[in-house]
Amino acid sequence: MKKILVTGGAGFIGSHLCERLLNEGNEVICLDNYFTGSKSNVIHLLKNPYFELIRHDITSSFYIEVDEIYNLACPASPIHYQYNPIKTIKTSVMGAINMLGLAKRIRAKVLQASTSEVYGDPKIHPQTEDYWGNVNPIGTRSCYDEGKRCAETLFMDYHIQNNVKIKIIRIFNTYGPRMHPNDGRVVSNFIVQALKNKDITIYGDGTQTRSFQYVDDLVEGMIRMMATDESVIGPVNIGNPGEFQIIELAEKILQMTGSKSKIVFKPLPADDPIQRQPDISMAKKVLSNWEPNIQLEEGLEKTIEYFKNTINP
Ligand code: NAD
Ligand code: UDP
Repeated sequence: MKKILVTGGAGFIGSHLCERLLNEGNEVICLDNYFTGSKSNVIHLLKNPYFELIRHDITSSFYIEVDEIYNLACPASPIHYQYNPIKTIKTSVMGAINMLGLAKRIRAKVLQASTSEVYGDPKIHPQTEDYWGNVNPIGTRSCYDEGKRCAETLFMDYHIQNNVKIKIIRIFNTYGPRMHPNDGRVVSNFIVQALKNKDITIYGDGTQTRSFQYVDDLVEGMIRMMATDESVIGPVNIGNPGEFQIIELAEKILQMTGSKSKIVFKPLPADDPIQRQPDISMAKKVLSNWEPNIQLEEGLEKTIEYFKNTINP
């Protein structure tokens, strides 16, 4: 039985990861300050004696003996990470320093949940791991993008300088049950709007693209990444290469929910990337042929079902 720390474990992705790690017979310590996550995401795990939930902010140091650390703590939706940008960058940078310091001291493996945002508004398409990105260092998304980029730098430097066993994954847009209904991300926004027969808000003309990954595929990729041998450190893209225009997503959700909502167009937020699609050749190679199994329609069905049961239309 491994002892595993998951920071940000009460969030959307973290809660699925904790559940899966427990199901595989591990002991899981979930650390969260509940900024965007909540106890309700993991309440069903509390009856498991091998699950422990701790309220803690990773900008302060934390000491524990574990074998592995998954570092997910960080608000991930633009509305949430822009609410307090200084706190966001502190969470990424000081959180990385604290978790890397801990990993160094206890000789644990540590995995960083990085992001496709490190590529910014990409000039190459699809994005490969060797692309350095096109990121505005002083824009509204910078607290998140540059925080995550700096965290990657810290991970590499702790690895090179102190031999810390690291893994870096770059996660592309992920969706599924337990997304926060008001976090402003496109999949949750459109589903909630459709179920409430409210206007579907497309920012810009809806021709910008994203590639959407269902959460179970990501969790499988994360676990496989942690299990790779020491020579594999990443960064490795984890995402679903199926690329869709935002307007296509809106139409699909309208059709699947049978909603009476109308599509309305709103201004495009600053620095909103025009296109995004992962090249997952590296993931396939180093993660024993990992690839996403759940395509958009199937994943949306599960997510729509979840929101039907959690919001009051
Ligand atoms: P989320 O907001 O649901 O989860 C983040 C969790 O971190 C929340 O439970 C929150 O309360 C916690 N947290 C935030 N600041 C903290 C702090 N200072 N100390 C302790 N806990 C803190 O978001 P998510 O979608 O589950 O994202 C999880 C991770 O994956 C994030 O690091 C995010 O950057 C990364 N990621 C997510 C996506 C995606 O599409 N969902 C894409 C790329 C990267
Ligand atoms: N978006 C939209 N309407 C919404 C929410 C988001 O058109 O109600 C767009 C947003 O401008 C972006 C895309 O959908 O182009 C994905 O947004 P999200 O915040 O989910 O993720 P990110 O931009 O961080 O990839």
